Amino acid sequence: MTLTEDVAQDRHPVETPEEFGARLRRWLRSATENLAPSATTFADRAATHAAMYDAGLFGMTWPIELGGRSLPTTYQTVFNREVAGFEWAIPDSSVTVGICAPTMADHGTPEQQARHISRMLRGDEVWTQLLSEPGAGSDLAAVSVRAIRDGDDFVLDGQKIWTSDAVEADYALALVRTDPGRPRHGGLSMLIVPLSEPGVDIRPLRDMTGDAPFNEVFLNEARVPVANLVGRENEGWTVLTTMLRHERIALSAGTAGARMDVDAFGALVALARARGVLDRTDVRDTLAEVFVQQRILDITGRRMREGLESGELQGPAGSLGKMGTAMAARAVAEATLKIEGMEGVAWRPDDGQVARRMREVLQFPKPGIAGGTTEIQKNVVAERLLGMPRDR
Ligand SMILES: Cc1cc2nc3c(=O)[nH]c(=O)nc-3n(C[C@H](O)[C@H](O)[C@H](O)COP(=O)(O)OP(=O)(O)OC[C@H]3O[C@@H](n4cnc5c(N)ncnc54)[C@H](O)[C@@H]3O)c2cc1C
Repeated sequence: MTLTEDVAQDRHPVETPEEFGARLRRWLRSATENLAPSATTFADRAATHAAMYDAGLFGMTWPIELGGRSLPTTYQTVFNREVAGFEWAIPDSSVTVGICAPTMADHGTPEQQARHISRMLRGDEVWTQLLSEPGAGSDLAAVSVRAIRDGDDFVLDGQKIWTSDAVEADYALALVRTDPGRPRHGGLSMLIVPLSEPGVDIRPLRDMTGDAPFNEVFLNEARVPVANLVGRENEGWTVLTTMLRHERIALSAGTAGARMDVDAFGALVALARARGVLDRTDVRDTLAEVFVQQRILDITGRRMREGLESGELQGPAGSLGKMGTAMAARAVAEATLKIEGMEGVAWRPDDGQVARRMREVLQFPKPGIAGGTTEIQKNVVAERLLGMPRDR
């Protein structure tokens, strides 16, 4: 019996956070025993995720009626700590579970919630976001994809861009213009778009690592039922605001979707020692910078989580954590380059380890752009947290 079928009654063992952590650790070790990091496929990761959920080890803090276990957030903190190092074995669910599911919990109808949320938690449904367009990124009020009402459907036309993992995703939350006659923020709506529908054309975009993590999505008379509206028609801006708040928290260190909890400093010291450069002053300087950034991130992340839980800090506080993640990612990338030296520019073809590390280095700009650039986060912090005048 899966947890989904069992939501009315939490039949998983009553355990303290420590017992939960120990069980999760044992479970992860045994579930990944026969998997190799380099050979793990999307299907392997999805299967591990579903089994982890069925064992009551994922989505614990979600309400029982939505497919979780209604446990306190301490269990999520323990979860984040224990999965560090196993990221290769389970899919990154920060968009589906960290962003789309909470947005649906806030604004979805009871039918939409019942239909999707537990499936999102189990990984049976992968979701993405259709927000950015070639002419609308930081300024999402400029979104121009049209959704025109035709009977019980909306008909969608236009182009989205930078859509993460659209090839693997089943659904997207899409920001669309339902009333071009209203002021910019007023004519937008949020829709659930099934990505397998006719009229949805997904074209992968390659980044500088050679991978294609995001896509262009062309909508060409794609029909979406009116029942897929999340929130009210022409009130999509309200739903978007909630969504971006969840996104900034999900992409901050130490929260459900964050991947920066891993001890990057320890790994870099070990690397510098192995390369024989630990005594070099310039290397020690960059390592010190990583240490400081990680400590700041750790403290800011903890303060943010506690503040959000207690209600002392508001949603915009997620912008602080996201900025910290971006700064720490840059410090780690700079230190890695310094330690690797020329090896990091041109490595031997058989040295898979350096290739993997340099691929990570090339990804360092991501946290400073995805979910709103660092400049935009600075605006949010200045205006919403510090009460400074609004950006022109
Ligand atoms: C890894 C990754 C994953 C992504 N996934 C998705 C996804 O799944 N779905 C999706 O819809 N989008 C996604 N995006 C797109 C992302 O949300 C946008 O790239 C981002 O919001 C910036 O928009 P833009 O690229 O249009 O840049 P622009 O908005 O054109 O900004 C260009 C530059 O101008 C600066 N700028 C703009 N406005 C201001 C201002 N008011 N004050 C100061 N500076 C400003 C910006 O900081 C930036 O440096 C992803 C991006 C990345 C990197």
